[in-house]
Amino acid sequence: MKRCTNCKAEKSVDSFNIQSLHCKLCVNTKRKIYGRTKKGIVTNIYKGQKSTSIKRGHVPPNYTLKELRPWLLAQPKFHVLHEKWVASNYDIWKKPSLDRLNDDLPYGLDNMTITTWRINFRKQTLRTTKLIKKNAGYKPKEIIQLTMDGCYVAKYPSYVEAIACNKVFQSHLSIACRLGNKNVGGYYWMYA
Ligand SMILES: [Zn+2]
Repeated sequence: MKRCTNCKAEKSVDSFNIQSLHCKLCVNTKRKIYGRTKKGIVTNIYKGQKSTSIKRGHVPPNYTLKELRPWLLAQPKFHVLHEKWVASNYDIWKKPSLDRLNDDLPYGLDNMTITTWRINFRKQTLRTTKLIKKNAGYKPKEIIQLTMDGCYVAKYPSYVEAIACNKVFQSHLSIACRLGNKNVGGYYWMYA
């Protein structure tokens, strides 16, 4: 057993990340609150862009987080979208997001537009569907959805169905399937 220095509760060791003084619940709550602030959004967007470009073997963003932050905060649209997102009680679809103007070019401050998750998601789903059609003979991987306790929830024939039913991004799902213990949309995921 170990005592969380934040909530003071005594919990089992597996309720803590290694060397963390705060329990996973406190860490996740803090992360969630931070992720809702403008500063937190920029940080998470930047992290996402970096990991996406690594995963796809693309050129990483040609700017730093320190450069992205003032750029984004200077865009009136970002503040409008953030306000709407807060007013919607943090509806995932309304969350501010950054999208490339030209997908063939790397992330650059001159190649980005501010949008919402919904629009970004639609674009990504369309791209996925097109890719699957293009690769005729390509066999999509079946995906299994598990509760955080490891109980079976559902099996999907491919990413497309899993994404459509769960409002999650393919990039997140794909990482989750490989890691097996990553919370995406409140569930664990694995390949069948
Ligand atoms: Zn705690």
